Amino acid sequence: MSYRGRFAPSPTGHLHFGSLVAAVGSWLCARHAGGAWLLRVEDIDPPREMPGSAESILAALPAFGLLADAPPLFQSRRIAAYDAAFEQLRATGHVFPCWCSRNDLAGGLHLDGQCLAAPVEGRAPAWRLRVPDIEIGFVDGLQGPQIQSLRLAAGDFVIRRVEGYYAYQLACVVDDAFQGITQVVRGNDLLDSTPRQIFLQRCLGLPTPGYLHLPLALDGEGRKLSKSERAHPVDPTNPLPALRRALDFLDLPAHPGASDPASLLAHALAHFSPARLPHCSERAAA
Ligand code: GLU
Repeated sequence: MSYRGRFAPSPTGHLHFGSLVAAVGSWLCARHAGGAWLLRVEDIDPPREMPGSAESILAALPAFGLLADAPPLFQSRRIAAYDAAFEQLRATGHVFPCWCSRNDLAGGLHLDGQCLAAPVEGRAPAWRLRVPDIEIGFVDGLQGPQIQSLRLAAGDFVIRRVEGYYAYQLACVVDDAFQGITQVVRGNDLLDSTPRQIFLQRCLGLPTPGYLHLPLALDGEGRKLSKSERAHPVDPTNPLPALRRALDFLDLPAHPGASDPASLLAHALAHFSPARLPHCSERAAA
């Protein structure tokens, strides 16, 4: 099967250093394998989104020399596919409606496999996945063997929110399968979501791709660089400095004489192999 990778930003802000690292890392892995690199805009959480963000991110990527092999997939246009997956989960008894409030759960996980609160007339439920007491293991391409007790880590997690929005976990597995993704390369903040995604793939009869989680970029105070904090946007009108820093972050050589992003990336690609990526879970962004 030929390699298909992807970069899947959420449009919650401008492209920032952490997401540039994920974009560059997934692009290098795909190109190294002679495979395709696809884009997906994860715009299914309107309350968290910033107007203009998707356009800004999609315009920034080519400025950094990161050209995709197909037009981007927008999750906001994929609701029918998530409805179908949800119906499949419902028909196979994997989900249950839940009216539990945050107070009912006292900040903890939902572990009962069914809602213990009474249905509230006129109030839509959240829908949770019934999570059995199992361990999910996988071998991460960079972080090595992983094992998670799904129930202790995630409990009966929500796959459709009270407002009707589908959860990232569900949309992500449906679309990784739809786009034929064979290798997911992304930031290490999503390492602990991967067992939830593998379990959902099993429930839905979808293939499990390979996973490789890149070190998470931290700021000077050791905090995650996050778009939602509107932190560290990178400047697509002057792409070379941030691209050099992203390559440096991934321990890749940034050719001093390169005068444009494409030649900087080509030089890094010529020296790239996934085994050379830094084997750590997080590191400070320069
Ligand atoms: N949309 C997620 C984010 O921007 C990434 C999802 C993924 O790569 O699976 O953090």
